[in-house]
Amino acid sequence: MHHDQVTYKKLIEQASEYLEDEDLELVELAYNFAEKAHRGQKRTIDGEPYVIHPLEVALILAEVHMDAQTISAGLLHDVVEDTTASYDEVKDVFGEDIMHLVEGVTKIEKVRFRTFDEYTAENLKKILFATAKDVRVMVVKLADRLNNMTTLETFGEEKQKRIAKETLDIYAPIAHKLGMWQIKGELEDLSLRHLDPKTYYMLKDKINEKRTEREKYTEKVIKKIISEVRKEGIQAKITGRAKYFYSIYQKMHRKGKELEEIYDLIALRIITKNIPECYVVLEIIKRLYRPLEGRFKDYVARPKKNQYQSIHVDVVTPEHKVLEIQLRTDQMHHMAEEGIAAHWRYKELDKDKLFDRKIGWVKQILDWKKEFQGKEFVDSLKIDLFKDEIVVLTPKGDTIILPEGSTPVDFAYAVHTMVGHNCSKAEVNGSVAPLDQQLKSGDVVKIHTQKNVRPSRNWLNFVKTSKAKSKIRGVLNIRLDKDSKYYRTKESIETNLLEFIDYKSKKNLKLSKCCNPRFGDEIVAFKTKDGSITIHNKKCPNIFVFDQDKAIMIGWKEEVENIKSVLISVRDRIGLIDEILDKSLECKVNVMNINIKSHKKNLLIYLKVRSDDDNHLKDSLKEFLGINGVFNAEIEAAET
Ligand code: MN
Repeated sequence: MHHDQVTYKKLIEQASEYLEDEDLELVELAYNFAEKAHRGQKRTIDGEPYVIHPLEVALILAEVHMDAQTISAGLLHDVVEDTTASYDEVKDVFGEDIMHLVEGVTKIEKVRFRTFDEYTAENLKKILFATAKDVRVMVVKLADRLNNMTTLETFGEEKQKRIAKETLDIYAPIAHKLGMWQIKGELEDLSLRHLDPKTYYMLKDKINEKRTEREKYTEKVIKKIISEVRKEGIQAKITGRAKYFYSIYQKMHRKGKELEEIYDLIALRIITKNIPECYVVLEIIKRLYRPLEGRFKDYVARPKKNQYQSIHVDVVTPEHKVLEIQLRTDQMHHMAEEGIAAHWRYKELDKDKLFDRKIGWVKQILDWKKEFQGKEFVDSLKIDLFKDEIVVLTPKGDTIILPEGSTPVDFAYAVHTMVGHNCSKAEVNGSVAPLDQQLKSGDVVKIHTQKNVRPSRNWLNFVKTSKAKSKIRGVLNIRLDKDSKYYRTKESIETNLLEFIDYKSKKNLKLSKCCNPRFGDEIVAFKTKDGSITIHNKKCPNIFVFDQDKAIMIGWKEEVENIKSVLISVRDRIGLIDEILDKSLECKVNVMNINIKSHKKNLLIYLKVRSDDDNHLKDSLKEFLGINGVFNAEIEAAET
């Protein structure tokens, strides 16, 4: 039998384990179509028929129990790109769904692009867009990439490394996001083999050397656990867990440990029928071995964001070996190994809901990265894919998923763009927290907003999410546009809510006489009959004569460089405030706004002053200290 026929036989054997007859017919039809279309084409690597590649892709898909349509798309994925077959033909024979799957995986034509980066980015975008509509596109793409990674030798070294790097940076993290651990592990190992062959083969050799000894010990441990578990009447499957080279490699680098320290850990997986049995087995394990402190995680009770469920516990054997144990049910196991693919296996699962959660990030990424092009798109995609996530809560208990290292400002933007723009203060677990504080999983975060607060350039120094970054940049760019005196922000086009006015140019606009708004006040504007725009204080009672639907929400454009905040602490007495204002007039300190808070018997007076000359302002503050009752006067740290 030829190589292609052998592979086809394997595919059908694998698929018939779980597919119905009519599904198998579809797979057969797809194979015949692909075989005919690719007939005469040879694989570069070994001169074997080209169709072996789509066959092997289909086999990977069958191994993770994908449905017949996906397997067929795997078989057909290269026919439009590489043969004379067209989308219309695929659609006529296999229907629209399969045609879309094939289309999603097919590379876009190179001709349109000037640089390799542009081309890569556009290809990725196309795949992600198609994935947002049907996640199976990505599953086929991952299988395609996995198979291509096994035949990289046909390319020059530079191209091998480039493809391996892309796989490690983009496709392995996507497999991780989709919870397809097996494919992820294999993609990473194959990437390592090309990127750092020396280390890869060193690990492989060393691991093989110690294999027998380890296997013996592992077997002994498994026997012991099984016999104890049986006493409780539980049938559990216990296996040693395959460790991927790349994950060992990563741990060695990240933790600065020697191979032995990592590889000597014995990883076991215990699979039970149901959840109660998981906990019974856990008790047995704890009785047999000493649990390591801080090495227990119950993702059964609290699943990870990607729906991953398992109990993780590390214990020490009397021989001082560390066992890393994962406990899970059969269903959790398939979900964990096959990830999104397991949804086809468990028909009773609420697919739509789980799907939405699993691929929500694809939609988010596309939404946040609209403006990124070429290399920038690929780089920003890498960052979002690689971040480990934390789960924080709104005061109402809604969960918000953020990358590790995120701050209240990231949280605010994740809630809503306007909450981000107007974020003035944050409370974490009930106490006021700095806006740049790094959040932890489980934190309850409350954001206070103020209409006149604008994003600050400084926020860019600490925000982690690309959404926060791009939204802040969006506003700052527009604020830097000095020529336009009255303009909408990008945001206002989206929300039709917010417009900014340049403080200096307010005489373009009319300040209403009834309430005489001052810089820093919360304001709102209405178009009057003569076409001019009148600005009112938001608290002005007269605004209710206007049609509220036509209110123009506006704010002050802050001139951060020139506006300083001054804090004056005083013991209150009659006439003191007047004296302070008189003194500022005398010193030519231009007070834009005054805000007074009482604090026990004292008053805290906040002045917003306009000043280009810090020395002059400092000298003036010394003058304030001469006023009876004033005991402190200082410039507050810039509000940017
Ligand atoms: Mn392919």
